[in-house]
Amino acid sequence: MTATKTAVIGAGPMGLVCALDLLKAGHEVDVYERDDRIGGMSAHFDFDGLAIERYYHFICKTDQPLFGLLAELGLSGRLRWTDTKMGFFWNGRLYKWGTPQALLRFDGLSLIEKFRYALQVMKIKGVKDWTALDKIGALPWLKSWLGERACKVLWERLFHLKFYELSDQLSAAWLGTRIKRVALSRRNLFHESLGYLDGGSITLLDALRARIEALGGRIHLCSGIDKVATDGAGKVRGIVVAGEERAVDNVVSTAPIQYLPQLVPDLPQDFTARIRAIKNIPVVCVILKLKQPLSENFWMNICDEGIEIPGLIEYSNLNPGAGPAIVYAPFYMPKTHPKYARNDHSFIDETIGCLSKLNPRFKPEWVLASHCHRYDFAQTICPPGFAAMLPPTRTPITGLIMADTSYYYPEDRSISESVKVGRELARTLLA
Ligand SMILES: Cc1cc2nc3c(=O)[nH]c(=O)nc-3n(C[C@H](O)[C@H](O)[C@H](O)COP(=O)(O)OP(=O)(O)OC[C@H]3O[C@@H](n4cnc5c(N)ncnc54)[C@H](O)[C@@H]3O)c2cc1C
Repeated sequence: MTATKTAVIGAGPMGLVCALDLLKAGHEVDVYERDDRIGGMSAHFDFDGLAIERYYHFICKTDQPLFGLLAELGLSGRLRWTDTKMGFFWNGRLYKWGTPQALLRFDGLSLIEKFRYALQVMKIKGVKDWTALDKIGALPWLKSWLGERACKVLWERLFHLKFYELSDQLSAAWLGTRIKRVALSRRNLFHESLGYLDGGSITLLDALRARIEALGGRIHLCSGIDKVATDGAGKVRGIVVAGEERAVDNVVSTAPIQYLPQLVPDLPQDFTARIRAIKNIPVVCVILKLKQPLSENFWMNICDEGIEIPGLIEYSNLNPGAGPAIVYAPFYMPKTHPKYARNDHSFIDETIGCLSKLNPRFKPEWVLASHCHRYDFAQTICPPGFAAMLPPTRTPITGLIMADTSYYYPEDRSISESVKVGRELARTLLA
């Protein structure tokens, strides 16, 4: 293919990696980003003097595409691993979780249920082909393994507090890859081992930006693309930014695909109907800086009638450099949920209000700083049969290809998957 002029929509990890590979192949590349920063969901912000991700990020031992990119950028030495602990707050009590001893000591399951749970995790660790699990729902699959009662204890409330009325629209393959990714990230059977980048995700993002610019690429911030224009014969002609059309040969969109029907009015209706069939939910994520740690856990699942948060992430227990105690509380929900209309402060107050239940020693004076972020397209809903629902990345418009986080399927969200899909997009365009 001869060198051409390509516009990449979105400067999240996927857009940046795709741009990098296109530049390496000799393309002229401009990356357009609507926000005033690079990174998308993995972007940082200044949290009371601490540069930290808006949303918690951990790395697993299976994140091979990420490791490949880190090696290419000379960043492998910035990867850190921690023996992390998990907790499970159930029925008013915080239990240890995530090890065979913790499972044996947990009061909420019978011995047979514990055995079935362990067996299911062991089985999932070995699954390589997710085709069969793509066809069935996550909750029925869990019930078939664990039984009704154990599924209720371990999973039902977590599902409800994240997906609400969409809880029965998730495939077993989507859940299975999540369980497998974390289950394989261990130093041994008794120690979970999760990773982070020294400095946070911005370490990777800044290195990508520098490499892109060194290769002659340009990253335009605060430059949302309003429209992809075509030549009337079904081929990309240019992009419209701030009312001005700029000529390009190709467009790679890494923005949430739900934006595409509006961005590309010339897309055929049957194609936009496929895009519109894919649902996504937002997240409202609270972050707190505390005077002292809340717990020893990095991840705490919560299954308790009095608490409407499915889990807390105490990031400083993964990355000790992140200050005395940093806690994230994610509130996922469909945008139509009445709670979504509440203001950010009410989510911060709700989070702080829960902390003394999780740790009776907690006092509101421990809170040194708080913030709340929202991301509209935070989690794709992947129902059974999702693999066949995804439209092809090569759209019917010549020169326009697209993907977003739904294309990780059956894998769940991760920067590593964005690296993989970003590289696939570049290969598709170059083919
Ligand atoms: C709460 C939460 C927790 C997470 N935890 C982890 C974790 O522990 N580990 C992990 O690896 N990953 C995690 N992730 C996921 C990870 O952040 C994402 O998978 C990754 O950042 C996605 O990158 P992306 O480039 O594919 O998409 P995005 O980050 O969505 O980037 C898309 C970009 O497109 C831009 N854009 C949209 N429309 C336009 C337009 N018209 N013109 C120009 N630009 C546009 C957006 O502003 C955005 O910057 C988490 C995400 C969230 C929300």
